[in-house]
Amino acid sequence: MIADTTRPGEVSFSTTNQRRGIQLYAASLTSYKRLQTREVRIGDLLLGNFHPIRVQTMTTTDTMDTLATVEQSIRCIEAGAELVRITAPSKKEAENLLNIKNELRGRGYDTPLIADIHFTPNAAEIAARIVEKVRVNPGNYVDKKKFELIEYTDADYAEEIDRIRERFTPLVSICKEYGTAMRIGTNHGSLSDRIMSRYGDTPMGMVESAMEFLRIARNESYHNIILSMKSSNPQVMVQAYRLLIKTMHEEFGEIYPLHLGVTEAGDGEDGRIKSAVGIGTLLEDGIGDTIRVSLTENPELEIPVCRDLVKRFSRKPAAQGEVATTQPSLNLDTNNNSVSSQSEEHGADIPPLGAMPYSPFEYKRRESFEVSNIGGHHVPVVVADLSKLQAITPKDLQSIGYTYNEATDKWTIGDMAADYVFTGHHLLNFALPGTLKVIVYPAAWAQAEDKEKYFPIYDQRAYAEAGVKSTTCNFVMVDCYPAGIPYLSDMEYLDAIGNDPTVVLCLSSTNKNAMQSVRRMFVELMNRNIKNPVITIVDSNWHTADEHLIHYATEAGALLLDGMGDGVCFGMTGESYKLQAASYGQVSGRNYQQSQSVEQFINNTAFSILQATRTRISKTEYISCPSCGRTLFDLQETTAKIRAVTHHLKGVKIAIMGCIVNGPGEMADADFGYVGSGVGKITLYKGKEVVKRNVPSEVAVDELVNLLKENDAWVEKTV
Ligand code: SF4
Repeated sequence: MIADTTRPGEVSFSTTNQRRGIQLYAASLTSYKRLQTREVRIGDLLLGNFHPIRVQTMTTTDTMDTLATVEQSIRCIEAGAELVRITAPSKKEAENLLNIKNELRGRGYDTPLIADIHFTPNAAEIAARIVEKVRVNPGNYVDKKKFELIEYTDADYAEEIDRIRERFTPLVSICKEYGTAMRIGTNHGSLSDRIMSRYGDTPMGMVESAMEFLRIARNESYHNIILSMKSSNPQVMVQAYRLLIKTMHEEFGEIYPLHLGVTEAGDGEDGRIKSAVGIGTLLEDGIGDTIRVSLTENPELEIPVCRDLVKRFSRKPAAQGEVATTQPSLNLDTNNNSVSSQSEEHGADIPPLGAMPYSPFEYKRRESFEVSNIGGHHVPVVVADLSKLQAITPKDLQSIGYTYNEATDKWTIGDMAADYVFTGHHLLNFALPGTLKVIVYPAAWAQAEDKEKYFPIYDQRAYAEAGVKSTTCNFVMVDCYPAGIPYLSDMEYLDAIGNDPTVVLCLSSTNKNAMQSVRRMFVELMNRNIKNPVITIVDSNWHTADEHLIHYATEAGALLLDGMGDGVCFGMTGESYKLQAASYGQVSGRNYQQSQSVEQFINNTAFSILQATRTRISKTEYISCPSCGRTLFDLQETTAKIRAVTHHLKGVKIAIMGCIVNGPGEMADADFGYVGSGVGKITLYKGKEVVKRNVPSEVAVDELVNLLKENDAWVEKTV
């Protein structure tokens, strides 16, 4: 039963939307189902309307260097790119797209090309006659950004829209004539002054920015359109896409295909995690027709990450574009004392959602009370699973942020030190660092002398029946909506433990729709006014490091972005753990695989996911553009240099942008910016304000450090 009656603070499903097959912003919020969108043709490639999710990337070469661009495009295509975007900042680059296209076609590559346009309608109009798709940014296609806040009357505003119509309609006409597709690509960091003045840099502002252009195109009966709502902040990005879907659906009764991406995500593990949190959260809800993972790395390296993201949803295509996933999930087995995987597909139904007790269009953390240091106003905790280690020594704690100095008998606690460890049946035979607590099975807990440090973990039935429990903190596992168990019978347990002031709920799911099941349980807790803190448990049975981190980022990130969860615990199934452990110390082309134990890899991933969802900040944040033909310095090398000297500045956001044309607009909410402003020249920013102009690049990193010092954002590194 879908209810339309809402209580205050709730968000209602419209019955009209339900009939049209959409729940607020998705085809389903309780099972994986793709959202139906219009079909769009890009050359010979079809996109939207349940066609496979297309993967794409963008070249970083100078567009005037035909050969370099062709060769890089080929590397991307061979890696699996189904669309290749090339920057066309001015007329001459737009014209050179013809040479690039001819060369590629001559070498037998038919992959559709996209021209990336900023500011220059003339370049767009040339490119639209040559390539299969053009991308325009509604924030700067007609408007030059002056960062001015202007009071617009309705008449002024309407006049501005008329001005846009006049400049934009010729491009629409060319696209119609040549059969060229178009992406209206909004960027959070480069909204027009008009939008900023009326909506601020909000998700609604991003949506309206695209809708202004989309309405003009529709009026011209042009529909070969794809939209994107990119931001370097996954929270903003996810909310904007959801709002865009709702807005299109309410205004047009149909949805145009969506291109998903997180801008300026950075490189390495952090870049992958940030992208996976944003893109993966939307994909989980069946949203997204094409994706690009923007990394500050060679563009062909983006493709495997895209494919890892997409393949999670393409294991079993079903009717109407619906696909089922195989979701592993951690399962507490108190009999054999192990944490095991259940990878078989289960078919339990998740109860339908009525009115929503939270808004998916804005961030608000679910209210919970405090147990130990979990929930309430505490940042989400990280629980490290050390139960697979044979014997745990002080040295093992190094991988989760604690370094023991034997000579001084002291612990050093890092910024990314886990808050709890799960050790299964093992009690530790050494003195623990002050901030670390241990979770063990009930039998081991009964043996523990220090009941302030050790806490038991039960499954929900065992907890209800347990004679002896901790008087301060008990962890209780709940498998959300498992197969074959009518969900109503499980609810009795929930009511029995709900609001027990000693209980921390540990939610996971063996249902094939694991994320949706856990999310549904959060909704159930909210509806029942159960305010126990919750730790989300995600287990992975994937094989590579990238697959694991995408899995954790998608499953837990999707919940954290909606304010759900007071902690995370990530694990690996036996086989995956063995494989990952075997790669420890091996050179694989990725730093973190070479130098991290499984426990360290998981711990770092957990903290990075909390950082990417902006729920717990524990390190410096880098917002770096992926680079393109406009880049004025070696972005990868410079990012590495800046990282090396600033990585200890917890919570500081530093943007590293390749050019001054788009960089400042797109560095979003960075505290400091390092922006290429000419050959060998860097301009430094504090927020959006220029503070040092045209600094020679040889001394620019030192000058950035000085700038951080002048603004009290610097601390010396501790050894
Ligand atoms: S900011 Fe970076 S990716 Fe964007 S246009 Fe400039 S150089 Fe290219």
